[in-house]
Amino acid sequence: MDKVVAFCKRRGFIFQGSEIYGGLANTWDYGPYGVELKNNIKESWWKHFVHEREDMVGLDSSILMHPRVWEASGHIASFSDPLVDCRKCKERFRGDKIIEEHLGIEKAAGKSLKEISEIIKKHKLPCPKCGTSDFTEAREFNLMFRTHQGVLEEKASTVYMRPETAQGIFVNFRNIAAIMRKKIPFGVAQIGKAFRNEITPGNFTYRTREFEQMEIEYFIKSNDKWEKIFDQWEKSCGKWFKKLGINDKNLRTRQHNKKELSHYSKKTIDIEYKFPFGWGELMGIAYRTDYDLKRHMEYSGVDLSYFDQEANEKFIPHVIEPSFGVDRTVLTALIDAYSEDMIDNEPRVIMKLHPSIAPVQVAVFPLIKKPELIKISRKIFDDLKTKFKVEYDESGSIGKRYRRQDEIGTPYCLTIDFDTLNDKCVTIRDRDSAKQKRVKIEKIAVELQSL
Ligand code: ATP
Repeated sequence: MDKVVAFCKRRGFIFQGSEIYGGLANTWDYGPYGVELKNNIKESWWKHFVHEREDMVGLDSSILMHPRVWEASGHIASFSDPLVDCRKCKERFRGDKIIEEHLGIEKAAGKSLKEISEIIKKHKLPCPKCGTSDFTEAREFNLMFRTHQGVLEEKASTVYMRPETAQGIFVNFRNIAAIMRKKIPFGVAQIGKAFRNEITPGNFTYRTREFEQMEIEYFIKSNDKWEKIFDQWEKSCGKWFKKLGINDKNLRTRQHNKKELSHYSKKTIDIEYKFPFGWGELMGIAYRTDYDLKRHMEYSGVDLSYFDQEANEKFIPHVIEPSFGVDRTVLTALIDAYSEDMIDNEPRVIMKLHPSIAPVQVAVFPLIKKPELIKISRKIFDDLKTKFKVEYDESGSIGKRYRRQDEIGTPYCLTIDFDTLNDKCVTIRDRDSAKQKRVKIEKIAVELQSL
């Protein structure tokens, strides 16, 4: 993990937030290559889950929503984690995470405050900071960030920074169903920022207080075979991780046990990734029944039922919710791709990113800085940049330029040399094998698309 964090800074993927002021703890900024990788991942997600399906549409709703939304969703009453304080060093932790770290996730999941306090005491679990085992009783800590809307800082002006993007979909359900004339089953996808005042953020971008989610609410009829639809979503999510090039061996599915399930969920699974610090949730899929729409009907007084014209029947849709974290997916892609090997008797760092998400897809180099080579290289660069993410580089030895591109995960490098002037061919070098081949200039785009 330390290597990946250092690499991310060194090569402009992820920087510490507010670094010149000493940094703001657990905030991270995506640098020039990081933002390209992140955008590519979001684009790939949108393409796979929205554009390549007929039953999906998109949405971009506000971060600030009516406070009643969070009453209806249950977040004000119960979106909390069990907080424990170490009496010795005064540090605060999530009680369930302390248990999980020492005794495994099964022992921690779904436990009440009382049970958490008892388990910590019984096993004399140590404080992660100072090592003593003297904690306060576990108590609820609400994770929502609160702020004020308008000029008056009074209770009536309290608003919350959304802790998930999903509620924006539920409150827009009526508009979308009516205006888009969508027939159930259909789904709504949204990508956007969410905020949670996590007790113990950490592990780089894995757990932060400001993060981005990619969420889907898939609306179905209550008597549809939800198990089948759930399985289809699980498969589709697996397919997407494959498209990103994530190694299957590092992924697993874990189903929540009864105690862990939210009261409204009939089934929840997490797809987990084998991070350097252990298995961790990458995304989850939950069957949330008709809980959300029903609650919003109750709290808003607006009818959110759906009228099925063909069957001449009215019902409140149920939902299946696949929910992804953008930052966790970016982190996963980085960790999964990070490799080191030896080439020409020298160690190299190589990011084996899938070509579809690499920040730079093609790099163009003139072999040496000679005007005739630069001229033709720039022309090739100008032609390719409308079709691919291309970088032009003429500085340093060719070996150094290859290493720089290998490090940021550029799958292909094109070199223009003196032979190019005669045979109108360039050398394409493949990142992973370092194999090279000559290709005609006019065939470069076709060749790259077929690789
Ligand atoms: P965890 O158990 O790790 O706290 P969660 O079950 O609370 O996660 P969900 O509410 O299901 O997470 O959110 C959906 C997705 O949003 C998660 O799978 C994860 O990818 C992402 N996510 C949630 N919390 C954070 C966070 N604090 N930082 C980064 N990503 C997050």
